[in-house]
Amino acid sequence: MMDGNLQNDIEKVVEADRAHVWHHLTQHKPFETGEPRIIVEGRGMRVWDQHGKEFLDAVSGGVWTVNVGYGRERIANAVRDQLIKLNYFAGSAGSIPGAQFSEKLISRMPGMSRVYYTNSGSEANEKAFKMVRQIAHKRYGGKKHKILYRDRDYHGSTIGAMSCGGQDERNVQYGPFAGGFVRVPHCMEYRAQWDLTGEDYGQRAADAIEEVILAEGPDTVGALCLEPVTAGGGVITPPEGYWPRVQEICRKYDILLHIDEVVCGVGRTGTHWFGYQHYGIEPDFVTMAKGVASGYAAIACCVTNERVFEMFKEDMTDPLDYFRDISTFGGCTAGPAAALENVAIIEEEGLLENTTVMGDYMLDQLRALQDKHKVIGDVRGKGLFLGAELVSDRTSREPVPEKQAQAVVAECNAAGVIIGVTNRSVPGFNNTLCYSPALISTRDDIDQIVAATDTALTRVFG
Ligand code: PMP
Repeated sequence: MMDGNLQNDIEKVVEADRAHVWHHLTQHKPFETGEPRIIVEGRGMRVWDQHGKEFLDAVSGGVWTVNVGYGRERIANAVRDQLIKLNYFAGSAGSIPGAQFSEKLISRMPGMSRVYYTNSGSEANEKAFKMVRQIAHKRYGGKKHKILYRDRDYHGSTIGAMSCGGQDERNVQYGPFAGGFVRVPHCMEYRAQWDLTGEDYGQRAADAIEEVILAEGPDTVGALCLEPVTAGGGVITPPEGYWPRVQEICRKYDILLHIDEVVCGVGRTGTHWFGYQHYGIEPDFVTMAKGVASGYAAIACCVTNERVFEMFKEDMTDPLDYFRDISTFGGCTAGPAAALENVAIIEEEGLLENTTVMGDYMLDQLRALQDKHKVIGDVRGKGLFLGAELVSDRTSREPVPEKQAQAVVAECNAAGVIIGVTNRSVPGFNNTLCYSPALISTRDDIDQIVAATDTALTRVFG
């Protein structure tokens, strides 16, 4: 698809990249002889690399982001118009798209009321942590400051967010971490910690949170931060009975509930705008990033309810009694301008419904693959957010060697389908093949993704 001139330019680009770009999540030694991959163009569900090779993107831009697919001129035009009118203003001033998007967002989040703009999922979570800490100081003499987080959950790459991170494999080389974050057990039934099933298991996993609260002292615990469906930790769907009990526990001990929707948010799990809305949860904080503008602009939000917001305007006589925080690029207008169009597209094209229908279809197809390939130990997920865990033995649930899981990903790539794999190097948790195609997926797209996985599994495992 590339003409000769562009091909020349691309060679220079590849050289510049090889010489100067430090890629995310990448060991660079192989680039001394091999080539880095440059993604040059995208349309719908598909992207093209520097060689013009076409890929069906089953991970929405690598990390669950491009919910409405590539090449949306409507979003680009809205951003362009807004940038010409006013690109940026920060500090205490608002903006037209900021106000309009907050109204649109809040109308889809009953019970919530305020949007704090920032630029990454990590930072949105940090804002919530800071609000919790400030509330502890305002209301409880600093005592109720601890933030609970769950084993296997991830909340970002900054030191604060990593201090709240349940994936030890990501943390091991970056300590020391911030204090006041306390871990609770994961809720994954496939890797069970209690000899129970179904609702009993879910309630027991939630009771484990209460045990930690009691051990720490309820008067020291300010908030509980959880992903509705754990993403990078292994696509972990909560067991029945888990969420109602979690909500009950938070209410019982006056603990603020922070839901991290950075992956699940904005349609990814189908039917509802947010993952927590499947479970009847009433959060105090909801943080979101990736799908908010589908990657057309950097935008993240820390959304709170009015109860939290009210606590920050109680005492006008105290010069510190407001949220004394800023995010420089929270003043970029491109983010909310893109987000407004992104949400409009999801609505007008019925993408919440499509995600449910296609997600169910894909879950069925992956389960059929599980019947065929013994190496798939478990298939799980919600909407177009799915995982297939690879085990070398279904009874012991021993994970396959990491290299084999990587080989499956590489085989899919070679066949023109980009999939992901979560949880490298964690005994008992690694090697979940990961799928999060755009919400515009069709049956044909899903058939192609599943067929590529089928062939890859046969090649790697026979
Ligand atoms: N929370 C979750 C659940 C995530 O998956 C991520 C990113 N993968 C983050 C937070 C951090 O977002 P960001 O990379 O935008 O800082």
